[in-house]
Amino acid sequence: MATIINGKELAQKIRNELKTDVENLRNQGIVPKLAVIMVGDDKASEIYVRNKSRACNELGIEFEEFLEDKDITQKELLDLIDELNERKDIHGILLQSPIPEHLNIREAFSRISAKKDVDGFNPINVGKLVIGEDAFVSCTPYGVIKMLEEYNIDIEGKRAVVIGRSNIVGKPVAQCLLNKNATVTICHSKTKHIQEIVKEADIIIAAVGKPKFVTENMVKEGAVVIDVGINRNEEGKLIGDVDFENVETKASYITPVPGGVGPMTVAMLMNNVVKAAKQ
Ligand code: NAP
Repeated sequence: MATIINGKELAQKIRNELKTDVENLRNQGIVPKLAVIMVGDDKASEIYVRNKSRACNELGIEFEEFLEDKDITQKELLDLIDELNERKDIHGILLQSPIPEHLNIREAFSRISAKKDVDGFNPINVGKLVIGEDAFVSCTPYGVIKMLEEYNIDIEGKRAVVIGRSNIVGKPVAQCLLNKNATVTICHSKTKHIQEIVKEADIIIAAVGKPKFVTENMVKEGAVVIDVGINRNEEGKLIGDVDFENVETKASYITPVPGGVGPMTVAMLMNNVVKAAKQ
């Protein structure tokens, strides 16, 4: 039976440590502040933004929300980002995705100053991650690595397989694992023989967005299984990409959904805001 990695507990521990950092900053007259831009009224985004705002409140980080109309133009969005880049009281800027399709999200992410890019989506931070320089690492991949480290799971020399190659999860998590000296394979929708490839993995990162995609027969005995997926089943219950009940019996470590990677993502965002304020 696998050890269940408790993301909720770990995230709380990280937030407690950050609270002290925030207090120290405040004593020096620096009040860390996060600005969140949300465009339109995506229901899931509203929940994510609420969680981020709560975490800020708990830590003493100021939070300012910019709720923009779904019809905002690209120019208006870029002007808002420029304004926030200029503001001295704001240390971190986050553009909540998704945004309406008429807007160019890549251009918007690139416009956020690399120094305030707490989500790590500006190409400067992505590039720094690739060449191994200090960067803002995007929060979900960062949370995944932090979990492995906190549970003393060896990464160096291990065979890691990442399922998914999105710019926000799959690619950066693969890069983080490579930076930690794992041998990394990235699988995606065009990958052939995915089952055999995943079965060779010591560490499996599932970031597909498909319920129960990773089944017991794809998992090597003793593998570490990290489930990034967030899906809803027919009853509306949150489930991951991994068939948890069956994979749990084969894995050495496994993350649950909910209570795994999700809370870590928010904790690492707080970490990045504190880092930006320190800089
Ligand atoms: P995404 O942009 O939709 O990417 C999904 C990836 O899975 C793509 O690379 C896609 O391949 C691949 N894929 C789809 N079907 C596949 C198949 N049959 N076989 C192999 N690969 C397949 O999703 P994302 O933004 O990376 O998110 C992935 C999941 O993580 C979602 O459930 C999302 O809700 C969740 N998520 C969770 C957190 C958190 O904090 N826990 C944060 C972000 C995302 P192609 O590139 O070939 O299309």
